[in-house]
Amino acid sequence: VERVVTVKDVHEVMSAWAPPAIAWDHDNVGLQYGDPRTHVRGILVALDPSEASVLEAGSRRANLLVTHHPLLFRPLRSVTPASAASRCLEILVRRNIALYSAHTNLDFARGGTSFALAEVLGLQDVNFLERSYRVDRKIVTFVPAESAERVASAMAEAGAGVIGNYDHCSFRLAGTGTFRGNEASSPAVGRKGRLEQVQEVRLEMIAPSWKVDDILRAMRRAHPYDEVAFDVYPLENLSNRFGMGVVGTLPRAARLSRFLALVKRALGSGALRWCGSPGAMVRKIAVCGGSGGDLLESAIRAGADLFLTADLKYHAFQEAAGKIALIDAGHHETEAPVVGAIVAHLRRELRRRGDRTPVHPARRIDNPVRYV
Ligand SMILES: [Zn+2]
Repeated sequence: VERVVTVKDVHEVMSAWAPPAIAWDHDNVGLQYGDPRTHVRGILVALDPSEASVLEAGSRRANLLVTHHPLLFRPLRSVTPASAASRCLEILVRRNIALYSAHTNLDFARGGTSFALAEVLGLQDVNFLERSYRVDRKIVTFVPAESAERVASAMAEAGAGVIGNYDHCSFRLAGTGTFRGNEASSPAVGRKGRLEQVQEVRLEMIAPSWKVDDILRAMRRAHPYDEVAFDVYPLENLSNRFGMGVVGTLPRAARLSRFLALVKRALGSGALRWCGSPGAMVRKIAVCGGSGGDLLESAIRAGADLFLTADLKYHAFQEAAGKIALIDAGHHETEAPVVGAIVAHLRRELRRRGDRTPVHPARRIDNPVRYV
């Protein structure tokens, strides 16, 4: 039996990696155009939703375009040939090509934009420069001992209890629960109107904030009580799965002048803006794909020899002088490696589901910036 992959399936694969809920508030990520039920014949992955990438999708028989930058960002007040976004949207509609975008949510994800950039530069032992926090919640419920396993499993199936490479993580502590039901109650244990004491388990599991509602629903379904007692706590823990920018090390220290040449070659940059002393040795490197200027302080604090990102302001170079070497390698150039990361992720995950839908990286490079 041939399994059919729908736009919704691809949405789920992408969301499990880069959950839309971790995107910046003002961002607009997810399905931008199309019907989630559409059967996907082929996928084209590009950095930008441009006319060129939509046409390329069409010519390669792909009916789903996955991009990093969203097409619909500022409100589209009219659809006329005057705006590039309108023209792009019009071709999507006419050719029936769906568009899905993963933007800042992919920047914050492990294996996302900055990890892809670090890989192209040959960095090792790569980890987040700044880890996200307040991403997780702790859910605690009180359940009769004999039902603890069923409730914990239901919560785990809904996404609770994932820590690093482990799932179904929970903690259970035995204790005594007390309650007295009124006339309208229907107690699973004991009788209404009587003060009851029951051996219960305090069951605790961690959960990402955006899955809390689903987990509570699953918990209630599996729980024997008509009135389920539970607490949801906010956590201050730093996340292992989400963060901003990355830091890693070169296999061996290199002169800054040599590293500049390596960056130009690896990213195909037309020009680099940089500061630092050309003879200085660099090994610990912080990078952030796209506009990462705000992470300069973090890169210095992390003890990096060099920080590479894009869209740096003049003052960033002033601030960096004497503290850290700095490279502005271009927005498009520092984000382009994520296209390969998305292609690899989709191929791997779709194959795992037994599907062979072709996934292509876009051939056309449409960097709007030129250099002389
Ligand atoms: Zn960008």
